[in-house]
Amino acid sequence: MIAMHFQEIVQCLEHCTCDFKEDFLIKGISTDSRNIKDGDLFIALIGQKFDGHEFVQSCYERGAAAVLVSKKVDVDCPQIIVNDTLAALREIARYYRDKFKTPIIAVTGSTGKTSTKEMIASVLKEKFNVHKTKQNFNNEIGLPLTLFELEKEHEISVLEMGMNNLGEIERLAYIARPTIGVITNIGTAHIENLGSRENIMKAKMEITSFFDNKNTLIVNGDDEYLSTLENLPFKLIKVSTKGRGDYNAVDIVNLGENGVEFKCNYKGKIHDFRIIVPGIHNVYNALVAIAIADIYNLTVDEVINGIINFKPGKLRMDIINLENGIKIINDCYNANLDSMKAALDVLGDYKNNRRIAVLGDMFELGSFSEKAHKEVGSYAKDKCDLLIAVGNDARFIFEESNKSITSIYFKTKEEACRFLNTEIKDKDVILIKASRGMKMEYITNCITEGR
Ligand code: ATP
Ligand code: MG
Repeated sequence: MIAMHFQEIVQCLEHCTCDFKEDFLIKGISTDSRNIKDGDLFIALIGQKFDGHEFVQSCYERGAAAVLVSKKVDVDCPQIIVNDTLAALREIARYYRDKFKTPIIAVTGSTGKTSTKEMIASVLKEKFNVHKTKQNFNNEIGLPLTLFELEKEHEISVLEMGMNNLGEIERLAYIARPTIGVITNIGTAHIENLGSRENIMKAKMEITSFFDNKNTLIVNGDDEYLSTLENLPFKLIKVSTKGRGDYNAVDIVNLGENGVEFKCNYKGKIHDFRIIVPGIHNVYNALVAIAIADIYNLTVDEVINGIINFKPGKLRMDIINLENGIKIINDCYNANLDSMKAALDVLGDYKNNRRIAVLGDMFELGSFSEKAHKEVGSYAKDKCDLLIAVGNDARFIFEESNKSITSIYFKTKEEACRFLNTEIKDKDVILIKASRGMKMEYITNCITEGR
């Protein structure tokens, strides 16, 4: 972070009180008492589990130069008092963003945000010094903290924006003022809070809240909802694998675990591109990166290299080769209906092996949960030979899949592991996937260590 004056921060907050009138430099901003560094401003957030105000004293002792709180604390340090510390974090981040002319690309969508963000960054890195969201820091706390990592030497920034409710993306867009917005797709993730896919679409479109005719929105033109977009007061780019877009992937060759090849138009010519990561869905993510590369005038070689260099994050589509031809597709970072289907597609391609799908619960689906789990169960029909469902609502996957393929249901991961370690045979391919809260890497570790 570029150091900011304490009084500058006080002034950028419209409604705050501060008795401390001297000035000094704030070198960083932290909301996590465990990571306080010398000269930081500690912002006390009130979360579900913790109240940051309880840690003010220890933060000050460990070097915090000042604190931002919603009630005065009995600690002898410079204090800024506001009504809502999360709103203040937002205002400071907004103010900080305004110090830069750096273009910001913001990525939202139901599935594939992190993958698309990483793909875009991988391509832009070929030409620019790129700032990007680390891991999955995509919410109302993660995004401002990510912005504070923006420095003068960064030429472009790629940010992930996640949401659970209407209004959240608008607040993130308010902070970051993206130059380009990307919506990967409109699925069913977080439908529990939003009620319908129409509302999910509305929530994602908030990424354009501060757009004018100089801004660009890039969407998946094959998505049922996004494909309907037209006549917007800003530039709209669609990407497609069905010839409906401004950038179209054609002649797509699925190379299974070796990735995907496709052709796409770029600056008036058709070129060959190759993704070395499995999963046909990555073609959409690459198309978005191609569209952005075109805007920022990368050469076609830079784009080709950037796409080849793309690697998904930890626990995503990670192929682990064990002895005797046994393979694990470790995709247990997270799951929703769309990404479950995408992962089952990858498993389904191993037609010469016995394919085992180990699928756990998908969370945050509310009243749609039973339907979504059943849909996974029926989708699995042609994609695997044995299905193991683990958890609570995963039993709906089991009930549905059991109608057509051999399926087994376990309540706990431990039971599933015991079964798998006796069941797995040479050359089996095993997909492991569920929502983050299921921590399905436990099963991956059991299998790899159990051998
Ligand atoms: P989160 O909401 O947890 O941040 P995310 O939107 O960032 O998720 P990723 O972490 O990129 O999504 O990917 C989640 C899963 O979706 C992975 O299993 C990945 O293989 C798959 N995936 C990636 N891109 C797409 C896509 N465009 N369409 C469908 N599935 C995808
Ligand atoms: Mg993500």
